[in-house]
Amino acid sequence: MAFSRIDQFQKIKANESEYDICIIGGGATGAGVALDAVLRGYKVLLIEKGDFAGQTSSKSTKLVHGGVRYLEQAVRNVDWQQFKMVYKALHERKVMLQNAPHLAHPLALLTPCYSWWDRVYYGIGMWLYDRISGVTNLKNSQGLGNQQMERLVPNLQVKGMSGGILYYDGQLNDARYALAILQSAEKEGAAILNYCELSHFGLSPKSLKIKKIHFKDLISGEEHEVSCKVVVNATGPFTDHIRQLANLKLKPRMKVSRGAHIVLPKTFWSGETALLIPKTDDGRVVFIIPWRDYVLVGTTDEPDELKEDPAIRAEEEDYLLDYFNRFALIKASKQDVSSGFVGQRPLLQVGLSDAMQSDTKSLVRDHEVEVDQRSKLVSIMGGKWTTYRVMAEDTMNVVEEDVLHRHKQSCHTKDYVLFGGDKMDEALWSQRIKALHISELSANHLRKIYGFTALKVLEHCEREKGGLELIHSSLPYLQGELNYLKNYEMAECWEDILYRRWGISLRDQAKGQLIMDIKKEAFASFH
Ligand SMILES: Cc1cc2nc3c(=O)[nH]c(=O)nc-3n(C[C@H](O)[C@H](O)[C@H](O)COP(=O)(O)OP(=O)(O)OC[C@H]3O[C@@H](n4cnc5c(N)ncnc54)[C@H](O)[C@@H]3O)c2cc1C
Repeated sequence: MAFSRIDQFQKIKANESEYDICIIGGGATGAGVALDAVLRGYKVLLIEKGDFAGQTSSKSTKLVHGGVRYLEQAVRNVDWQQFKMVYKALHERKVMLQNAPHLAHPLALLTPCYSWWDRVYYGIGMWLYDRISGVTNLKNSQGLGNQQMERLVPNLQVKGMSGGILYYDGQLNDARYALAILQSAEKEGAAILNYCELSHFGLSPKSLKIKKIHFKDLISGEEHEVSCKVVVNATGPFTDHIRQLANLKLKPRMKVSRGAHIVLPKTFWSGETALLIPKTDDGRVVFIIPWRDYVLVGTTDEPDELKEDPAIRAEEEDYLLDYFNRFALIKASKQDVSSGFVGQRPLLQVGLSDAMQSDTKSLVRDHEVEVDQRSKLVSIMGGKWTTYRVMAEDTMNVVEEDVLHRHKQSCHTKDYVLFGGDKMDEALWSQRIKALHISELSANHLRKIYGFTALKVLEHCEREKGGLELIHSSLPYLQGELNYLKNYEMAECWEDILYRRWGISLRDQAKGQLIMDIKKEAFASFH
């Protein structure tokens, strides 16, 4: 079966018994649970009301990290819980990089210092960060002088600095990583659908336990109902809404904070080294990160009301530009900003009584699996991208032990190579791109986006008339990719392609618009 809505609906129709596990939400968390569950042998259905990773999971800072700031907080506050969280995330970092090498890679980051004390302080901090990673450490951190820093980041304003510390974390293509997890789950037997919104639950009249999910296909308008044993609520910032659909008596547990990013052309930040600004005037952390042919600057951290697709505010753009310019020799202005986006962090409100009163920066970004004793709804709350796999494992352990009342099975996701992550036959690849006259730009794009599956994409483009031609001479995208994305990656509208499958509109609004203008007719055949 292909990863297309037609095939997935057929899979559901052909299914004669109830589903073991229905997952609501197709971001990082839901995707992780779907893969873990199907690999444990369960019959799984996942529904997502928009596109996969359409909300928070495609709007992150794209770091695979333990969190230097969280380690600092853990040490300062002697907080064992937070220390454990950093430890867990640091070990997951390596797993994420290994399981989808085309979508995640190591990233060098520089922390500037302004005194000898800073160098000692950050030097010890990064040394500890390396030690906690243990055998999964990517590369040891090291102290650098101003000249060495200039060589790494030619546009860095080093005046007034006393050197810095170079350390390593990971960077991921978040939207495609979520897709790869979902494609893997589908390949293993799960049914996966986007643009299907949970409308309500069917409860047992006696016990008020969930027996069915009712969902609406937002494309056809059709209503569907599916029987299931367990429902997992993995809706990130929307978690409380689903919890209250299952049981109105449940009190809200989530708090939302908004994080804005701006994107600038790479000319403003040459080299491949990122900068961590460890303390802004208002006590935040801001990153300047090379991101494909661009540089990503972010993020902010402000309490917010829950919204779909929140837009960046002028003051957020000004704030991030100001910080970029403080550290860059070539200054950027508003006109240079090629794009901006905001994500909403699903933060677990630890102290229920404090709901919506405390400062979001001090909330622990860990996760919790909750089982509502009446409806048996399982909600996975909080967490971060880097720990999606551990969150899924914890969720499935709770599902098995506390809801299905079975022995906990082993989790198989740690060494599972995700869709597209298999090793490419380099000789075959070189032969194919040469024979088909694919430019280096397009070849790089295909490998970075599709990994091993790039061979299948080329095959598809070759079969389609004009499929190997470029959409525009300045861009790497091939004409034939559009139908590939529609038929094999469940891209249902132009936003799915431009914001997530390719991600170009997230990096550069003008280039996204250029593709829109050229492919207006082709996109009209989408929904
Ligand atoms: C600004 C920002 C920067 C971040 N940076 C990093 C980082 O660098 N590294 C890191 O590790 N983490 C980072 N995070 C955290 C990470 O992005 C999130 O923890 C993670 O993406 C949350 O994934 P999720 O699946 O829980 O939520 P989401 O991605 O929001 O997914 C939930 C999904 O549920 C769907 N849904 C809601 N209601 C329904 C319904 N009724 N029916 C069907 N579907 C429904 C939504 O459409 C949504 O797609 C960042 C977060 C933010 C906001």
